[in-house]
Amino acid sequence: NGAEPLRHYDFDLFTIGAGSGGVRASRFAANFGASVAVCELPFSTISSETTGGVGGTCVLRGCVPKKLMVYASKYSHEFDESNGFGWKYDTEPKHDWSTLMANKNAELQRLTGIYKNILNKAGVTLIEGRGKIVDPHTVDVDGKLYTARHILISVGGRPFIPDIQGSEYAIDSDAALDLPSKPEKVAIVGGGYIALEFAGIFNGVTSEVHVFIRQKKVLRGFDEEIRDFVGEQMALRGIQFHTEESPQAIVKSADGSLSLKTNKGTIEGFSHIMFATGRRPNTKNLGLESVGVKINKNGAIEVDEYSRTTVPSIWAVGDVTDRINLTPVALMEGAALAKTLFQNEPTKPDY
Ligand code: FAD
Repeated sequence: NGAEPLRHYDFDLFTIGAGSGGVRASRFAANFGASVAVCELPFSTISSETTGGVGGTCVLRGCVPKKLMVYASKYSHEFDESNGFGWKYDTEPKHDWSTLMANKNAELQRLTGIYKNILNKAGVTLIEGRGKIVDPHTVDVDGKLYTARHILISVGGRPFIPDIQGSEYAIDSDAALDLPSKPEKVAIVGGGYIALEFAGIFNGVTSEVHVFIRQKKVLRGFDEEIRDFVGEQMALRGIQFHTEESPQAIVKSADGSLSLKTNKGTIEGFSHIMFATGRRPNTKNLGLESVGVKINKNGAIEVDEYSRTTVPSIWAVGDVTDRINLTPVALMEGAALAKTLFQNEPTKPDY
């Protein structure tokens, strides 16, 4: 009568990617009684085709390490202000970059451990390795096949550096959160929130900071008064903005320093050039095309209002769908999906 024949699967849900959305959906699904497995790449502070880590971008290469660095960067302003309140220092306070990095990385290890624990306690099977879809009910993890009634793709995205001459010398946000030494003079290309947060961090730890933006103003898409105010205040703190300026090439000198050539000229002497020019969904080499999961021209997975892809048994949440790329959104989409699939309560994400 057209109904799907009863079939035995290894799991009710197989999730690919244990970041914000994947962990939330898997844990909730298990709590609702489903048998769940999730696969995730081995841990590294820098993401790649073969490295990631339980917790995902927010915990390992986004919100969390960034906030630790924001906290670190705020002290310099407080030392300055404290002079007016009578504080005197015999020597200038010095910042030790390697202490910050070591403590930040210890915190990341602690957090990835906590996330593994959360999954374990919920009864979710965690499999380390790279997931790839083989057919609408089968996932291959490094050569081993697992079947599932439903498959969830929550593989997130990775930073994107445009292909200009010398782009191999540029760093992205993953690298900027894990530098072996403090940048002395840094160029940041991009005017979004990630670019500006890094500008604030490096300014606070006393790097010379230049921000290059294509537009007249920072933070496109944000409230207009906020755009003006943030730009003004950051400039007052010594961050140099280069507006309506697009990078064209990076040149490395014999002394190792970098020059950034733009449509308006060349600025020399950078120790680092960071691109914060957006992110791309991790949809390459995931088996999507062969199984019929549709992706758009930016590589994001197309889903309906219940996060269902064009293949009925395959679902997607979080940054890989490029709806609103923020952690609370990925969490909410993951929770909504678990309700839809395993609590008999079809739930649309509510933005
Ligand atoms: P992710 O958290 O990226 O998780 C995807 C996981 O899938 C990764 O662990 C990856 O290793 C894994 N994976 C990928 N491919 C495979 C595969 N084939 N097999 C197995 N595993 C795979 N958001 C906020 O709300 N507030 C902030 O302050 C904030 N700050 C940010 C700062 C920076 C620098 C960045 C880069 C992002 C920030 N974000 C912030 C955005 C936030 O990190 C993301 O929106 C969120 O992590 C998306 O969750 P996700 O589950 O979609 O993907």
